[in-house]
Amino acid sequence: MMASGKWKRFLLPALIWAIFEGVAVTLWLTKENLFYLLNFSYIGTAVAFGLLLFQLRYKHARRVAQFLVGTYMLVYLGLICHENMQIEGFWYYLFTGVFEAATIHYAVAKIFGPLVFGRGWCGYACWTAMILDLLPYPVPQRPRRRWGWVRYIVFALSLLFVGALFLTHVGHMEQIMFWAFLIGNGLYYLVGVVLAFALKDNRAFCKYICPITVFLKPMSYFSLLRIKCDESKCVSCGKCKTVCPMDVDMTDPSRKRKNGTECILCFSCVKACPKNAL
Ligand code: SF4
Ligand code: SF4
Ligand code: SF4
Repeated sequence: MMASGKWKRFLLPALIWAIFEGVAVTLWLTKENLFYLLNFSYIGTAVAFGLLLFQLRYKHARRVAQFLVGTYMLVYLGLICHENMQIEGFWYYLFTGVFEAATIHYAVAKIFGPLVFGRGWCGYACWTAMILDLLPYPVPQRPRRRWGWVRYIVFALSLLFVGALFLTHVGHMEQIMFWAFLIGNGLYYLVGVVLAFALKDNRAFCKYICPITVFLKPMSYFSLLRIKCDESKCVSCGKCKTVCPMDVDMTDPSRKRKNGTECILCFSCVKACPKNAL
């Protein structure tokens, strides 16, 4: 792990909280909108709280963060405020030239943020995975398929859908985007649950379908925070690999390691290692 020793175990939650607070204050002051201060302060505090619980060895620490952030974004921002936080919402606000909630959310959580915290979004905040992680296959029971190309099709379809709305100048765009949010989320949950049971893998949707990974994967390649293996301590027992939900070869310290851009920083491998090598 990046930080070791008792006094250092609060560093990661503190670092994540400080990053989000920096974003919150910067956006609040530059956009002169209190929403950004409250929004990013809440998300940063929720994620940092989950990480803190993890350091205190609470079993469901990550779930706490997932539900605190996921339900806030799905229920409050999505259902109550009618903000489409799906990828269609990102395209929509991008095309309208509005650098507001959804575009800022994507910039922070899914495009530039992963340079610092990798796929932390996928481990601690995503409202789709918040449900999928409750299913009975936290560790894949079958070998990984070569279906990753499907994500590019879903990505292109989301772009085409919003592009077509603009090209055809349809009316009531805000309402259409809200319905797209409802239907899109419903489909994600349906496909995610069916795939999880069919492939005996809770995270199958994340591995093959999710279009957001088109942003997340290349950016997280350069992530500052990553699981590293101390090869001098590792005894090659393989226990870490048996608990990884994303099929990552975490014993390889290289950034090019197998499925390296899939790590969701869940720390299951760290907990499983008997030699504290991760
Ligand atoms: S891959 Fe997609 S669905 Fe899975 S956790 Fe990440 S953003 Fe959510
Ligand atoms: S088990 Fe380790 S390598 Fe696998 S996703 Fe979790 S933190 Fe990353
Ligand atoms: S569990 Fe620890 S000791 Fe065993 S292979 Fe993984 S990193 Fe090495």
